[in-house]
Amino acid sequence: MNAPTAISGATRVYGIIGHPVAHSLSPLFQAEFFRQFSIDGVYVPFPVEPARLEAALDGLAAVGVVGFNVTVPHKEAVYALLGGDADAEAIGAVNTVRRDDAGWAATNTDWLGFAGVLEGLGVDAGKGAALVFGAGGTARAAVHALAKAGTPTAAAHARMGHAPRDEAVRAVTAGGEATRRVVVLGAGAAGLAAANRLALHVERDGVALEVVLVDASAEHVFAPGFVSVMFEDAEAERFRRPVSSLVRPGVEVVQGRVERIDPARREVTGEPGTLGYDALVVALGAEVGWPGGAPVEDTAPWTAAGAAGGAALLRRLRPGERVVVVPATPAYRCPPAVFDLAVRIRRRTRAEVTVAHPWPRPLAPFGEEPSRRFATMLAEAGVGFVGGFPLGARAGRAFTRRENVRAAPWDSMAAGHRARESTRDPPAPAPVRN
Ligand SMILES: Cc1cc2nc3c(=O)[nH]c(=O)nc-3n(C[C@H](O)[C@H](O)[C@H](O)COP(=O)(O)OP(=O)(O)OC[C@H]3O[C@@H](n4cnc5c(N)ncnc54)[C@H](O)[C@@H]3O)c2cc1C
Repeated sequence: MNAPTAISGATRVYGIIGHPVAHSLSPLFQAEFFRQFSIDGVYVPFPVEPARLEAALDGLAAVGVVGFNVTVPHKEAVYALLGGDADAEAIGAVNTVRRDDAGWAATNTDWLGFAGVLEGLGVDAGKGAALVFGAGGTARAAVHALAKAGTPTAAAHARMGHAPRDEAVRAVTAGGEATRRVVVLGAGAAGLAAANRLALHVERDGVALEVVLVDASAEHVFAPGFVSVMFEDAEAERFRRPVSSLVRPGVEVVQGRVERIDPARREVTGEPGTLGYDALVVALGAEVGWPGGAPVEDTAPWTAAGAAGGAALLRRLRPGERVVVVPATPAYRCPPAVFDLAVRIRRRTRAEVTVAHPWPRPLAPFGEEPSRRFATMLAEAGVGFVGGFPLGARAGRAFTRRENVRAAPWDSMAAGHRARESTRDPPAPAPVRN
């Protein structure tokens, strides 16, 4: 457990206010930090109805709470009540409040996380303009981080119905030309939403917008549906639609893989030829599946082919047969997915399912409590776990080695997510079957 073994009069009380707040993972993470840094503190989720926010702030002060975080829907309202430092003022929202001699002192640290991502990615934020979708606290924190990094233009776009705050569309339509061409790359969930929302503004402020939506595929795929294809025998076709059937009037759909973006010339090039743009939205998503193709039968529902393979695997698996579920690479998106897949396979088939993973314990990097919960989930489902499992001789490659096969014997294997990486690598070595 992460909670201190004894709460005393010296224990410092922290918390998070939100509405609702029960879902928040902050108490888990904060408790882990308390444990790691030997802080005698507790971190409590406080559900606070918007109408009682002011009373709640007084109450937290009255009972000696030392500090608290602020989440939806209170970030702007707490700023309105308490004010804040220069960062909070620029963003107009607050996410962190601590008590000092003068009372509550509020700040906003949301922008620091986004700035850290920009830095980690090596993005030169001083070059070019940024387009930020959304106009809530998080979007404004991103705009603030971009402004601090010297990005010349950062604009926020509100949800449909929030037209007065529609800064991004104004940014796109500003500039004086009679017609502005916006090219949206990728017709996944993000690209479709962007193109369709921009299409609401095709005639506005005397500027005609041309919205061009480009995708390598003529079909939009709803990826979460693949789970039902594997486990509920749903038809994969149900989760595909022609892109052209999903766009608003005014969006031109272009099919073809884009190979290159040339910001200096404001052009994208590739299979569709050369497309010029005034504004560009990049929504190319992430690739999933096995690097360079599946080294074994693909039986995980991250792709249409994998979901179909998974459904076939479930049909032929018998109780007691052995299945190993592994991530395809040491780093992959959606860390819980591998464990969820293993539990689902186990529940459905009563096969002997084992997760083999490089982490020493399930979800180990997420701290003790999440790890313990996932270990319990696996144990309750009767799923085995082999930790410290080397995923292959080459970094980023997954394959089984004979000694591992002994440690985690298998008749079938299902693979987890992978992160985006080059697909130009040679295919992974063939696995060893026992
Ligand atoms: C099994 C599964 C379950 C999931 N469950 C959930 C869930 O429950 N909740 C949730 O929020 N999310 C879930 N997700 C994640 C969700 O599907 C993705 O986050 C979402 O699809 C991302 O949308 P996107 O538009 O950013 O990218 P994508 O949907 O990946 O779209 C990117 C588009 O860009 C196109 N493209 C890529 N490269 C090029 C190129 N060079 N040229 C032209 N076009 C290109 C692709 O063809 C694609 O259409 C799940 C994903 C999977 C696989």
